[in-house]
Amino acid sequence: MESLPCGEGMTGILEKKPRLLSDEDMQITVKNLVTPRAIVGKEFVDDVVLREAFIGVLRHKKDIAVALKVITSILPGCGHLKRCSGNRLFLALVKSPENPGKASDSSFASADELKTFLIAKNVNLNIFRDDFEIVKVPERSPRTRVQFTKASQAWPVNFHPDSSIEVIINGNFFDSKQLEVIESCMRVCIAAAKRTAIGNEHCNGSAVILDPDDEGISRILAVSTARVNEHPMWHAAMLVVDLVARIRGGGAWNLSSEVIPEEGGADRKRECPSNLPLVYPESLKSMTFPQFSHSVAPESKDKSPEDEKKCPYLCTNYWIFLLKEPCPLCAMALLHSRVSMIFYGDSNNSCGVLGSNALMHTLPGLNHRYKVWSSVLEAECKSAAECLSVIEH
Ligand SMILES: [Zn+2]
Repeated sequence: MESLPCGEGMTGILEKKPRLLSDEDMQITVKNLVTPRAIVGKEFVDDVVLREAFIGVLRHKKDIAVALKVITSILPGCGHLKRCSGNRLFLALVKSPENPGKASDSSFASADELKTFLIAKNVNLNIFRDDFEIVKVPERSPRTRVQFTKASQAWPVNFHPDSSIEVIINGNFFDSKQLEVIESCMRVCIAAAKRTAIGNEHCNGSAVILDPDDEGISRILAVSTARVNEHPMWHAAMLVVDLVARIRGGGAWNLSSEVIPEEGGADRKRECPSNLPLVYPESLKSMTFPQFSHSVAPESKDKSPEDEKKCPYLCTNYWIFLLKEPCPLCAMALLHSRVSMIFYGDSNNSCGVLGSNALMHTLPGLNHRYKVWSSVLEAECKSAAECLSVIEH
């Protein structure tokens, strides 16, 4: 199908600024500027919520061992909280209308109620100062070292660091070779979007699919831009997934005129590397695409169960690069196609669901999880996105 030049002669398309392709559009040059920012669940980012608890202060620190033994046998405590802090002993949570507590919690509405309970259990309250303190303690276990440091300032808390989470949060997940490939692919995204993207206010931009380990090298398999002027579902991510399907001998939309071998098993890209990447619209063929000489796949421990079973879904283990944060349609299509990582540059305030309006990939019950990284060449993506053609509905 012949593609139309950006914004030319089409009713309903808002042409933004007249623009000529620059040298930068034509050549993909890596400048090592990327710092992907992980989009993770709030439980890894937000401070741990605090809630009130009763603390008994011992008159004499030497009584700590006895007090600990007695209190632990009567009040179960909270697994994530340490029981003692100096001569202070965590007794129970404060029950309140906001925090009614679970049946398994030991919580009390007042210090008097707690004292009555302890006296009934034959605890000698004289070992404590007369008044129990009420202090704020962390409501749950911290998930990151930063949360642990803050939570510990309130009350000593148990913490089991997860190194795989820490490297993601701290921005140390990728090595320099991986960052180079990420930057190259996002530069392809920017250049492609500038040439042919026509989206709408909900979703716009471009998409690049990378196989991070195609028998020892990483390879761009497909590149597309939004073309909602041609079909309402032709968002960039939808098109690029269909191009990957085409490589495997399928595809719903017959987007590419490239001849793909009829036979060749599930992995037909083996048969036609010179035809790759497949592109839509076809005018993107004139772009120069980077070739990579090394694999950038994460270590095998990160590979998905599907991969281990050797029955990959369409995009199992592939990475996708998007100029803009995806809309719900694109985010779900990428989930179903099983991409392993999504990188985007510019946020999508109107409909983005991987950071702006929702964290779709962190919701419970999903049957696949991809990692999401934002802010890849953010300023350049934002600037490119501002100039894209937009179709009105
Ligand atoms: Zn979309």
